[in-house]
Amino acid sequence: MTVTRFAPSPTGRLHVGNLRTAILNWLFARARGGRFVLRIDDTDAERGDEAFVAAIRGDLAWLDMAPDAEVRQSARFDRYEARLAELADAGRVYRAYETPQELDLKRKVQLGRGLPPVYDRAALALTDADHARLTAEGMRPHWRFRLDHDAPIEWDDLIRGGQRFDPGTMSDPVVRRADGSWLYMLPSAIDDVELAVTDVVRGEDHVSNTALQLQMFAAMGAAPPRFAHAALLTGAEGKLSKRLGSLGVDHFRAAGIEPAAIVALLARIGTSQPVEPFVDRAPLIAQFAFGHFGRAPARFDDAELAQLNARIVHQLDYLAVADRLPAGMDAAAWDAIRPNLATVAEAADWWAVVTGPVAAPAFDDGDRAYLVIAAQVAATIDWSGDPWHALTAALMAATGRKGRALFLPLRRALTGRDQGPDMAALLPLIGRDAAIGRIAAV
Ligand code: GLU
Repeated sequence: MTVTRFAPSPTGRLHVGNLRTAILNWLFARARGGRFVLRIDDTDAERGDEAFVAAIRGDLAWLDMAPDAEVRQSARFDRYEARLAELADAGRVYRAYETPQELDLKRKVQLGRGLPPVYDRAALALTDADHARLTAEGMRPHWRFRLDHDAPIEWDDLIRGGQRFDPGTMSDPVVRRADGSWLYMLPSAIDDVELAVTDVVRGEDHVSNTALQLQMFAAMGAAPPRFAHAALLTGAEGKLSKRLGSLGVDHFRAAGIEPAAIVALLARIGTSQPVEPFVDRAPLIAQFAFGHFGRAPARFDDAELAQLNARIVHQLDYLAVADRLPAGMDAAAWDAIRPNLATVAEAADWWAVVTGPVAAPAFDDGDRAYLVIAAQVAATIDWSGDPWHALTAALMAATGRKGRALFLPLRRALTGRDQGPDMAALLPLIGRDAAIGRIAAV
């Protein structure tokens, strides 16, 4: 059974990069008939905030990607303690006491000698007596994971292909701070084992973490999950700007972007598959495969999102949007107005045009004379069928006008605008009396 997890830290709102990671995890789980788990990485009580946890849940719900289960790292500290103790017994974690300043100095010396700034494992040489003395001096240890330098790190990444790291070039990572708090690396690996995560899908900024975590899985005697590291997102301008990094669900919602547009875009950018305006997710799920993902950065473009959103809005059924439409706006009105919308919210503008009043622009004498005739003709036509075609046909016959000269003054008088929804659909919504009133008023 495929199990994926989306593991945000509740230190802020989800941004577009996080949303993409969530979407990829969700799609893959759905494609495999598996489970999608939300893991709240809240080991850091100081930086985490309950409001952000609620916002993360809300964002996933808005995307219609409610997780199949939720776990919180803050509820699992006893598991981390137990695993740390086991790893300590096995000699795979060890206590160290260097201060940040001391470590910094060591790094500088190494760099000065042209050596890689890898932790020198000085703490491994400490004896029980040393530990006792340091403890008596009031020192508290942090814990490092001891990498196995003889075990080359290799995996076949579902997106990046074969990956290889030399553990000898990496520092033994600190997994627990002297104050007892946990760093991200080990708890995440423990959770992936104990929650039976089969596939870790995340951004390529985690590739070197994966290298370290693969040794943690091995040290725990657990088979590692598969890994898929997606290339990072960049803005249309070429890099992940501050602005893009701060865009989240609130922004998209306020801009009238539909969840389906976000999902359709973020599911496909960075892949060889076309971005398509899917309202229904079934094809996105059915066609999802890591083999389609490339290694080049995925470009996120607001303009592309806005266009995709419009194409999605044009497909939405009345029932899908009814609760967001102005009172009185029915299915016929939605169907008439929908092709003109970039966002659902814009429907209210057009509904205001239907219900009036509208401010008609100024007309020249010729058009005014034409509209006087139009008001008279409008009173004589059959309004029960297709009044727009009845009106324009009668006016063509009566005035000899054609094309723009025939249609545009009517559109302007009726809607106050030069462009908009198909008048044949709009006119019945405006209705006979209001329409005649608007034409006669100019
Ligand atoms: N909390 C980590 C992050 O936000 C999770 C990384 C992971 O997926 O393991 O980057």
